[in-house]
Amino acid sequence: MTPTLRHSTMVATSGLVNRVGPHCGEKEARVMALLITDECISCGACLPECPNEAIFETRSDAEGKGNHVGDGQGVGDNIYVITHDRCTECVGHFDEPQCAAVCPVDNCCISDPAYPETTDVLLDKARKLNPEKNIDPAKVWSGVRN
Ligand code: SF4
Ligand code: SF4
Repeated sequence: MTPTLRHSTMVATSGLVNRVGPHCGEKEARVMALLITDECISCGACLPECPNEAIFETRSDAEGKGNHVGDGQGVGDNIYVITHDRCTECVGHFDEPQCAAVCPVDNCCISDPAYPETTDVLLDKARKLNPEKNIDPAKVWSGVRN
């Protein structure tokens, strides 16, 4: 079934969705790569903050550059998307997901239940994506699923 990305529906149907960022309250046990819901207003604040270049203005932009985007994300091609190929939840770079931290909209940058990844997996991804950068293993936030 193609998941709808309205936050309330995701919570009701999967039970696995976590909320992150300054506008969200509790953090549950499962936290993974992030995705952008259709709450996105395409303000562009998140894109320059991503240390892994995992955010794109539209689904077609991401896919046109060879990146995968989850089912149901970026429908209509008029909101931003995150490719799970490149999202490390900011592990290795920052103490919290930067997209969620700067996003002005509630329930917009949330964890992707389809891609649970451990700290080691996320750090390895960060190193491979950024061979020129210093990836700091201490930069891990409490929501990572291990
Ligand atoms: S969590 Fe970090 S790495 Fe993932 S899309 Fe957001 S800013 Fe980029
Ligand atoms: S900061 Fe939030 S609302 Fe703005 S483009 Fe990114 S995901 Fe969309």
